[in-house]
Amino acid sequence: MQSGRLRLLEPPPLASDQPDSMAMCAAERGPAARCRICGSALLARIGTVEYLAGYAWEVNRCNACGCQFTRHDGGVHGLMHETGVLSYYSDYRSIAARCRSCFERNDLEGLRDLLASSSKYKFVLDRIAPLPADARILEIGCSRGYLAAHSILAGRKVLGVDVSREAVMEAGALFGDHFALVGDPRIEAGAPYDLIYHVGMIGCVADPIELTNDLLALLRPGGALLFNAPNRDALYLDGQLWLDSAPPPDLVTLFPPRFFMRQFSAKAAAIENIETTPAEQSMLIALRRALGVVWARPVAQPIQAAGDNGLTWRQPTPPMRRLVERVAAKIGRMTGLDALVPRRPTEFGLFVTLTRK
Ligand SMILES: [Zn+2]
Repeated sequence: MQSGRLRLLEPPPLASDQPDSMAMCAAERGPAARCRICGSALLARIGTVEYLAGYAWEVNRCNACGCQFTRHDGGVHGLMHETGVLSYYSDYRSIAARCRSCFERNDLEGLRDLLASSSKYKFVLDRIAPLPADARILEIGCSRGYLAAHSILAGRKVLGVDVSREAVMEAGALFGDHFALVGDPRIEAGAPYDLIYHVGMIGCVADPIELTNDLLALLRPGGALLFNAPNRDALYLDGQLWLDSAPPPDLVTLFPPRFFMRQFSAKAAAIENIETTPAEQSMLIALRRALGVVWARPVAQPIQAAGDNGLTWRQPTPPMRRLVERVAAKIGRMTGLDALVPRRPTEFGLFVTLTRK
């Protein structure tokens, strides 16, 4: 990362050139004066979260763009990847291994089924499927290459890009020479692209607007940029400041619905599809809201203790409430009442399609 930003066309600095991440972000330690996303001064400081010990970060709500955010430290993602400190980082390794097994057997159908069990990957695969065979595809934040593997096995032209040298090398070893480090000249040489996508990344970058503008510039007119974003409206408990499943310093921005439609309507035709929770989960959420359940602040976990089971904070549920919830869920299922409960947005189900004008 350069200046804490993902610069697609600039090579990342060598490790020895990188300043200490905490020193680099010293200027950001104080209270934010302006929105990191849109630059507005219309900020409300709404509290501080500390999921991992030593990362007690202030949460801001911007009254101009609607984002909820903490500061960003570009130096921590390498640490997250290396240590697998958050459970979903270790999941990525296991997904890559299972995809490799399908890839080795030339099992395109099996690979698709494996990936499509996750809605964020299905969203991308469904939009790649109707493209002509010679379409140019770019994946940003390809990690270990398992999603790009489907296009590779189907014989498509795809380039996967990542900021992590280790991830790019491993992706290449698993799925062939279709991967490049940020700054590689092949990224620009491959433009204009018909389709660019990224998954689970926009909430982790320093400047989501700049990243999106950079990617739109690499598309042909009529080409599409696809991604999923964390939905601010998935904070449903009273007083809830953050999504417990993906804490800072990894995830640092939550977006309100229509954010990308408002920001990019001049450059792109924007569509947002909002994924909602299944009936049973919606009923559980409705029950917790009716009971006035207050969000329990995370207890900071030491980062050194992570890696085995991963560290994602779970809201504590007292035994009596757990019993009430189980009974309510059963009654909801048996009577069909749960189907009548309004569905809630899922945490990462803001599915965005920007078609370049
Ligand atoms: Zn803002």
